[in-house]
Amino acid sequence: MFTNSNFDGHERVTFAHDAASGLKAIVAVHNSALGPAFGGCRMWPYADDETALTDALRLSRGMTYKATICDLPYGGGKSVIIADSRTEKTDDLLLAMGRLVESLGGDYIIADDVGTTLADLAVMRQVTEHTAAATEAAQSDLAVTAYGVLMAIEATVTRVFERKDLAGLRFAVQGLGNVGMPLCEHLHALGAVLIVTDIDRERIKMAQERFGAEAVEPDAIYDAEADIFSPCALGAILNDDTIPRLKAKAVCGGANNQLLRAEHDKSLARRGIVFVPDYLANAGGVIDYYQETIDDRPEAILASVGRIRGIADDILRLSGQAAETPMTVADRIVRQRLAAASR
Ligand code: NAD
Repeated sequence: MFTNSNFDGHERVTFAHDAASGLKAIVAVHNSALGPAFGGCRMWPYADDETALTDALRLSRGMTYKATICDLPYGGGKSVIIADSRTEKTDDLLLAMGRLVESLGGDYIIADDVGTTLADLAVMRQVTEHTAAATEAAQSDLAVTAYGVLMAIEATVTRVFERKDLAGLRFAVQGLGNVGMPLCEHLHALGAVLIVTDIDRERIKMAQERFGAEAVEPDAIYDAEADIFSPCALGAILNDDTIPRLKAKAVCGGANNQLLRAEHDKSLARRGIVFVPDYLANAGGVIDYYQETIDDRPEAILASVGRIRGIADDILRLSGQAAETPMTVADRIVRQRLAAASR
């Protein structure tokens, strides 16, 4: 584990097996200098243990950056359950996971992620109080992640395009799921022109009908004549093959880990493309989780997620002043905050 390229100084990684329920899980706590590690639980039938560990480490580090750049009193953590959520999820398995979380004594707060739901967290709450307590309504009706991406986009439009409105700006949106579709709805309402893609034809049809979007084949989205490229489907899509094809002046979207490797941030900059750190643009969910522990009225949640706009604006301003990429600036702010908190 210590030689895994994603280890990055993790504070604690717990491997657990519960024979009775069949639970096989890993909980990664990357950094807790600013508060208990917060992060989702991914249930996935990983091909092998190494892949599961890498996923847990990579995602938990990302959570540290996400929470810290947004000034939340959380550290970064993530858990994985090695199982198929469609066929292997049982209450016994979830309760065993809840007991594992409880055994960490509050160092890790578990949330939902791919393969787990808020209902699963409710089962875990029978045995641990260290679960996110967000409501379905806030998560689905408010589409907080998409709203957060919109906030980052608005800051980008102001700083990069020196405009106050989105009317007529062209957006290439990759992926029309929980994040991409509501984002398109916002962008359309603000007068933007949409070029969209998805591997699901039904989702494309919906975007065409609702927003008058132009549809392109999945691979053609990188060639789209767009002002802003918004990846909202997959990670690692910014790489040596795709970056030379982009026409956009900025990339800002909801997908996690958009850069294949860290140096691709510089490749984008060399082409004059501003890359808004994905861990900031897609932080709406974790901000919402925190906000719901204080005040869960919809207007309070949206105001709280709206802070992404100001944070993105600061980072883009500092990036322009220092001639550094926004990612370089954001990473440094995170490291400084963590170092100050650990002293
Ligand atoms: P989702 O599964 O609801 O939607 C993803 C969409 O992308 C689907 O419609 C899928 O058909 C499409 N897609 C898959 N492969 C594609 C491809 N090759 N080209 C084009 N489209 C493709 O997922 P989501 O919840 O919308 O999340 C999207 C991204 O945002 C993921 O990277 C996720 O990790 C990240 N994210 C999501 C949230 C959240 O709150 N949902 C929060 C933070 C980050």
